[in-house]
Amino acid sequence: MAGEEAEGAERMDTSPELPQTPQRLAAWWDQQVDFNTAFLHHLAQLVPEIYFAEMDPDLEKQEENAQMSIFTPLEWCLFGEDPDICLEKLKHSGAFQLCGKVFKSGETTYSCRDCAIDPTCVLCMDCFQNSAHKNHRYKMHTSTGGGFCDCGDTEAWKTGPFCINHEPGRVGTAKETLHCSLNEVVIAQARKIFPAVIKYIVEMTIWEEEKELPPELQIREKNERYYCVLFNDEHHSYDHVIYSLQRALDCELLEAQLHTTAIDKEGRRAVKAGAYAACQEAKEDIKSHSENVSQHPLHVEVLYSEVMAHQKFALRLGSWMNKIMSYSSDFRQIFCQACLIEEPGSENPCLISRLMLWDAKLYKGARKILHELIFSSFFMEMEYKKLFAMEFVKYYKQLQKEYISDDHDRSISITALSVQMFTVPTLARHLIEEQNVISVITETLLEVLPEYLDRNNKFNFQGYSQDKLGRVYAVICDLKYILISKPTIWTERLRMQFLEGFQSFLKILTCMQGMEEIRRQVGQHIEVDPDWEAAIAIQMQLKNILLMFQEWCACDEDLLLVAYKECHKAVMKCSTGFISSRKTIVQLCGHTLETKSYRVSEDLVSIHLPLSRTLAGLHVRLSRLGAISRLHEFVPFEDFQIEVLVEYPLRCLVLVAQVVAEMWRRNGLSLISQVFYYQDVKCREEMYDKDIIMLQIGASLMEPNKFLLLVLQRYELVDAFNNTVATKDQDMIKQYNTLIEEMLQVLIYIVGERYVPGVGNVSKEEVIMREIIHLLCIEPMPHSAIAKNLPENENNETGLENVISKVAIFKKPGISGHGVYELKEESLKDFNMYFYHYSKTQHSKAEHMQKKRRKQENKDEALPPPPPPDFCPAFNKVINILNCDIMMHILRTIFERAVDTDSNLWTEGMLQMAFHLLALGLLEEKQQLQRAAEEEVTFDFYHKASRLGSSSMNAQNIQMLLEKLKGIPQLEGQKDMVTWILQMFDTVKRLREKSSLIVATISELESIKNDEITHDKEKAERKRKAEAARLHRQKIMAQMSALQRNFIETHRLMYDSTSEMPGKEDSIMEEESPVIGDSSRIALGPKRGPTVTEKEVLTCILCQEEQEVKIENSAMVLSACVQKSTALTQHRGKPIDLSGETLDPLFMDPDLAHGTYTGSCGHVMHAVCWQKYFEAVQLSSQQRIHGDLFDLESGEYLCPLCKSLCNTVIPIIPLQPQKINSENAEALAQLLTLARWIQTVLARISGYNMKHTKGETPTVPVLFNQGMEDSTFEFHSILSFGVQSSVKYSNSIKEMVILFATTIYRIGLKVPPDELDPRVPMMTWSTCAFTVQAIENLLGDEGKPLFGALQNRQHNGLKALMQFALAQRITCPQALIQKHLLRLLSVVLPNLKSEDTPNLLSVDLFHVLVGAVLAFPSLYCDDTVDLQPSSVSSSYNHLYLFHLITMAHMLQILLTIDTGLPLAQVEEDGEEAHSASSFLAEVSQYTSGLTGCGVPGWYLWASLKNGITPYLRCAALFFHYLLGVTPPEDLLTNSTEGEYSALCSYLSLPTNLFLLFQEYWDTARPLLQRWCADPALLNCLKQKSVVVRYPRKRNSLIELPDDYSCLLNQASHFRCPRSADDERKHPVLCLFCGAILCSQNICCQEIVNGEEVGACIFHALHCGAGVCIFLKIRECRVVLVEGKARGCAYPAPYLDEYGETDPGLKRGNPLHLSHERYRKLHTVWQQHCIIEEIARSQETNQMLFGFNWQLL
Ligand SMILES: [Zn+2]
Ligand SMILES: [Zn+2]
Ligand SMILES: [Zn+2]
Ligand SMILES: [Zn+2]
Ligand SMILES: [Zn+2]
Ligand SMILES: [Zn+2]
Ligand SMILES: [Zn+2]
Repeated sequence: MAGEEAEGAERMDTSPELPQTPQRLAAWWDQQVDFNTAFLHHLAQLVPEIYFAEMDPDLEKQEENAQMSIFTPLEWCLFGEDPDICLEKLKHSGAFQLCGKVFKSGETTYSCRDCAIDPTCVLCMDCFQNSAHKNHRYKMHTSTGGGFCDCGDTEAWKTGPFCINHEPGRVGTAKETLHCSLNEVVIAQARKIFPAVIKYIVEMTIWEEEKELPPELQIREKNERYYCVLFNDEHHSYDHVIYSLQRALDCELLEAQLHTTAIDKEGRRAVKAGAYAACQEAKEDIKSHSENVSQHPLHVEVLYSEVMAHQKFALRLGSWMNKIMSYSSDFRQIFCQACLIEEPGSENPCLISRLMLWDAKLYKGARKILHELIFSSFFMEMEYKKLFAMEFVKYYKQLQKEYISDDHDRSISITALSVQMFTVPTLARHLIEEQNVISVITETLLEVLPEYLDRNNKFNFQGYSQDKLGRVYAVICDLKYILISKPTIWTERLRMQFLEGFQSFLKILTCMQGMEEIRRQVGQHIEVDPDWEAAIAIQMQLKNILLMFQEWCACDEDLLLVAYKECHKAVMKCSTGFISSRKTIVQLCGHTLETKSYRVSEDLVSIHLPLSRTLAGLHVRLSRLGAISRLHEFVPFEDFQIEVLVEYPLRCLVLVAQVVAEMWRRNGLSLISQVFYYQDVKCREEMYDKDIIMLQIGASLMEPNKFLLLVLQRYELVDAFNNTVATKDQDMIKQYNTLIEEMLQVLIYIVGERYVPGVGNVSKEEVIMREIIHLLCIEPMPHSAIAKNLPENENNETGLENVISKVAIFKKPGISGHGVYELKEESLKDFNMYFYHYSKTQHSKAEHMQKKRRKQENKDEALPPPPPPDFCPAFNKVINILNCDIMMHILRTIFERAVDTDSNLWTEGMLQMAFHLLALGLLEEKQQLQRAAEEEVTFDFYHKASRLGSSSMNAQNIQMLLEKLKGIPQLEGQKDMVTWILQMFDTVKRLREKSSLIVATISELESIKNDEITHDKEKAERKRKAEAARLHRQKIMAQMSALQRNFIETHRLMYDSTSEMPGKEDSIMEEESPVIGDSSRIALGPKRGPTVTEKEVLTCILCQEEQEVKIENSAMVLSACVQKSTALTQHRGKPIDLSGETLDPLFMDPDLAHGTYTGSCGHVMHAVCWQKYFEAVQLSSQQRIHGDLFDLESGEYLCPLCKSLCNTVIPIIPLQPQKINSENAEALAQLLTLARWIQTVLARISGYNMKHTKGETPTVPVLFNQGMEDSTFEFHSILSFGVQSSVKYSNSIKEMVILFATTIYRIGLKVPPDELDPRVPMMTWSTCAFTVQAIENLLGDEGKPLFGALQNRQHNGLKALMQFALAQRITCPQALIQKHLLRLLSVVLPNLKSEDTPNLLSVDLFHVLVGAVLAFPSLYCDDTVDLQPSSVSSSYNHLYLFHLITMAHMLQILLTIDTGLPLAQVEEDGEEAHSASSFLAEVSQYTSGLTGCGVPGWYLWASLKNGITPYLRCAALFFHYLLGVTPPEDLLTNSTEGEYSALCSYLSLPTNLFLLFQEYWDTARPLLQRWCADPALLNCLKQKSVVVRYPRKRNSLIELPDDYSCLLNQASHFRCPRSADDERKHPVLCLFCGAILCSQNICCQEIVNGEEVGACIFHALHCGAGVCIFLKIRECRVVLVEGKARGCAYPAPYLDEYGETDPGLKRGNPLHLSHERYRKLHTVWQQHCIIEEIARSQETNQMLFGFNWQLL
């Protein structure tokens, strides 16, 4: 270190004329006349020194040098005193009230839907958390980088512009304090220094010479050092660059990767240093190599080393400036001023503009720093922001053009700053007024778009480049930003400039009006589908802009009228071709129309008509303002030409009809897509909707008959209604019918659709309500689905929340699925079957739903239109088309054809539409009659409809026709509707008659009323009955479905797996209660109850054949999965010290860190069938492309029935019935005491030892000094208590036993299979014990009884597992088992002197119990005969083993008791408490007082009872499944009180457990002494080294905050532990341990077994033995992973207020933790079902295959 410093000092010495301390340097600078020159001179000398090593710099040293020799002197110079002190003072003088934090990519931003002016106003995490908006309707989003926090900007927020930290006046932020702290001298210095600094930064940044420095910097002798610099671009992939570098530079992969990462991040990097020629050569090499892999060569330059150094430093100086400016507003202002000064006499623009203009030429890293410089200076000072904006607009065109030809992302382009300025309302207004920014933007568009213009001056995007056009959209977006806030005050100048902008905008629309025309293809299919996406995408982009222009125009009447005039002119100009075309005459029913001859099916047609549609929009707004009457002042009547205006929208609708009629199918898919978007929610407001409005305008202004003739003519349907069609061609008829239907629908819309403010008298809210009602009439929907189907305004709002509660009720979600809205009963009446925004499918779905509903309610099935709202006066005349002659003719023609049996020129759908039109007419007349006197109502629909037709053929009126229709059987479905219409006729008739006879009226009115009343009454009664019936039905249904739901939810896994199995519906395991009656329910000892066995006949799921399970039969197996588990660990993340090769798994550590769990889905197969199946899977999967679905190598397969992931099978072995003769047992009891039993066992063991160690004297370990003679105990005495011959299993069973045992061994130890390994039996015992413990833990966790609540799969699995373990011993050499047994027993019988015996505190005794019990029969093995203990002996063996181990466990618990807890509870000392006290006193003697004395007895007893219960529960499960003895009632039900004593009784224990010691005191005392005297144990106690306490803690997933933004907050503070940069990260939270990891990033990858794995996968290996649950914080997604290559997504437990999850935070609603769902996730984990979930999701969701889980 010292050496380095010396070197640094030496370097400094090379400039002798400069003073050496910063302070003195500063003073020296001050003395110079020209600061700029002195400063540059200084830099010229130092910068190349400091930034000498470009290739492999010591960054810390560089920074230190720059700080010491440049920045510190600069700061001294600025402040005139110690800068540290000064800056500290400034810091405390308070921050400015703008936050201005610049967002990095991936950071979370917040916006408030209640208060933000527009959605671009956002807050950073800190500001948001400290603001009032936290409790508003906020949105969370992930930043793409580049924006900044708007906290403190009063123009961005309607309310609450400040967070607590940026509130003015909070910490004395008032300006005075700032001024106080900055004295005149400092300001003067700043004025001197800043211009020099910014000038240097700008000039170096835009320096173009590769080989030379500016003369004032070139003061040293020029060296010959150059760099070959590689630049980032978007053409080349990571791998391309790496490849090219490796080839060109002949470097290692690692080095090439390093370069590439840096280039991607920074934008450029020197990849080679050396002489000019060498660098030039490298440059050419890289270029040519990169050209080989892709078309473009990489961008490489050779740069002079000192240029590089200065450029680097310039950026560093920029960051320094940023820091300095953050301290004071004055600094910022001085800096801005310096930036804005134009050099006198120079052509150059001001410095900041020069930077702006250079932006597109800069590389990424430089741009970022320079943009930040702008953020921290101009954007923090409103006045200068304005000046900057003006400069920006000045060069707008040029900047945009450069951006469009640039290939960097928009987020790092200077043009992306537009949003920061254009959305500020005052700024926008200023820019419009002063710089005509709207025109500037539109002209920019007009200048960049011409390359897409065809010879008619219309756009044509054929063969466009998506990327380039995408960049053009950015300009369109700016238009949106400028218009986003409508001005409230209009000055004359604003009006003028806006109009100018509007006119300029109309020019763009003119290029779009009629663009991309198409002609119907007849004969051949078109060859290539034309591009259509670009035009539609522009339409989408423009939608809200068009709407906003219309809104702005509507701000005042005159403005609107002028705009209307301009727009009208533009439309007419586009229609000249049409006006001059040929004429034709149409005639029908005595009406004549002269029109142009044009056919959509033959001539050119376009779907793009933005001018016509804008005009329609303006017309509606004119109507809303009530100013239609003034229209002729601006557009003379003779110029108006409504037929011309209607023409194009009408063509468009006809085109849609013809597409539906399949007339255009040869024109390919592109047309279908366009028609789809034309009516889709994303476009329809400015396409389809406006076309309908234009037709409504036409209908209101034209003579109705003429209008309808025009419509008929354009639909090419005049002939069809002239009765001249005589075709028999079915296709033609079908085509005609479709066209008629389409036309009728449009007519319905023209008359009936009035839900547009200005067309009808409705409010915006009513419009939205109607949309929602119609969506919910299809089906109940979640919030997001409704929102998706509603148009968004410019603020991305749909207005949904304000109205939804008026029309719908929210139904909360269950444990899965999402919440939905259901329509309120009273809103159903508003249902309109012909709602114009329904698609064909939506229409039929809704009709079906509503008819079904009415049927259920016992109502008629008529669905007449709801009474529509009134038209606005300007649209009033539209209704006249209903009762004109042509309409009557159309309707009558349809009805006549329907009645006529020969005609097929009608459809039921057509008829329905005709009914609908009829109904609309009648409704209209009824409404008018109810409102005014009869003679005033001129709308005479009734009259016209009742008139007879003119020709002889149709000498029937419509009513008569309807009566006839009622009689046609095929039209049964329409009967109710016909009846409704006839009633309506009647009502209108009565209303008509009532006013003509005033006297009669009253009575008749009465009678109408009475009629209606009696009618109503009948109806009501009918309804009531129907309702009652319905309710009853509903109730029953609800009950049933609730039962079913409960059932499914609580037993989902079980249900999934068994639902398909016949006869297995009963979910919960049925205890075999009927047989036992009152026989003993004790499992151990002489009183043990009988084994309850039943004949088991199982069905193989593969061959469906039944077979009885018998030991002599061929095997049946259960599909099963063995997995490593950390579900019970007390020490999460504990590394496995040894590899599987050397691990000794006989003893389990008490922390249960790594266990082996065996689970089963409970499905049974023949072993043979399974083998065949498995082989078949292996074969088929070899051909599968995605072979990695499961790992066949390690025996994985999916259960053929339930598709659970399995990797082995468990053989099913029946329980061997055992019953003991109680008299024999009693007799034996006298003889076989614990002491005697131990001696017998010891004798047996030493006997074996003697055999093995031939000849030597046997050393029988002596436990008791006094007492019995050794000779009593000899080798064979163990046999004298009862033996029987060993069980004989069939070979097939044995085979399966070996197979399964080997699998456990292989997976549990992660070693290659080896059936002869001595550890195979150990692993069998281990998985038995661990599986029991896991299931016991799960039951306890869920508060379920030990036996009553086991799932079928758990029950079957445990049973099979225990019986397998019994049989497994027989497949091994008995000597081996004896060896293991000896080691196990030595834990509790210390005198056995076995090696490696762990001390009592470092072993899990339940594992010892299981192993000892299962291994014990090996002691009965004799050379000649295979023997095993008789039932009686077994029961004693079990009893004594259990008692011994239980005593040891008691000691374990009491030694580890936590005495540190506050002992608040004082209980009466009972008998147990006394025993506890005296016991501990005894123990204390043996442990030399290391155990807690003075702990009250009651506390000891309570702790013991509490601590031992899990062990007792495990033992009960184990012995039950081993022996089949029925457990006591209390263990079957959920009774916590009875449980303990029931356990004791089942396990033959005294309830006061200390009595065990008392009973066996003679034996127990010496044992106790020896246990305690173990030095290892004493050592443990002394050191208090990590002790596991009992009961062990239950694991649960980490606690999550209720509010999701808290998590986001945490993640925002997350820094990758490996890399210092702040590039986008994917923080991922481990839900097991709470660690936050850096996922999907190279920086945190690890190498495991030579393979790269991501941070998550690596973490999972330790944390969850390969299995883990993660939460991707920024995406709000849960992922489950297993092993290296498998994983799946899982819904996160966070829901928004609508009960929906939000993967990817796309919607951004506030999210809150759902405890139910989190609990479910916990259960998935504790049930060891993660692997199963993954397998299932992979099976169903093949999409995720693309994801490389390994790198997560
Ligand atoms: Zn902020
Ligand atoms: Zn703030
Ligand atoms: Zn708010
Ligand atoms: Zn079978
Ligand atoms: Zn299964
Ligand atoms: Zn973890
Ligand atoms: Zn990292």
